[in-house]
Amino acid sequence: MQIDHIGIAVKNMEEASATYEKLLGKPSYKTEVVDGQKVEAVFFEAGESKVELLAATTSDSVIASFIKKQGEGIHHLAFRVENLEKEIERLKKEGFELVHNIPRKGADNKRIVFLHPKKNHGVLVELCESIKP
Ligand code: ZN
Repeated sequence: MQIDHIGIAVKNMEEASATYEKLLGKPSYKTEVVDGQKVEAVFFEAGESKVELLAATTSDSVIASFIKKQGEGIHHLAFRVENLEKEIERLKKEGFELVHNIPRKGADNKRIVFLHPKKNHGVLVELCESIKP
């Protein structure tokens, strides 16, 4: 598995985008609102991987509650997989726990699932598979 992206929860997307644009030395390549997850996602390339800034679009968004509890910061680590169903099956057998059992449509044209942080030493892990055209 390769790291696809690191998701970072931010309060103010405008400010955070400006910061990461300066940090990475280039502008974001994509902005997307994911209604199902009530987030706005802004993507930056960082070599082979990406940085995904996430801001809540509603006060009941998971990102809003994350920030309320923990403040801004790293929200999840995402690994790219070739076959999501196969990996889900493998990881379930290994004792990992999924947050939702059915893959969802994520940002950046991906199908995603999250692995519960309690089995991953406190890290929310996303598995993502590119949706083939
Ligand atoms: Zn993500």
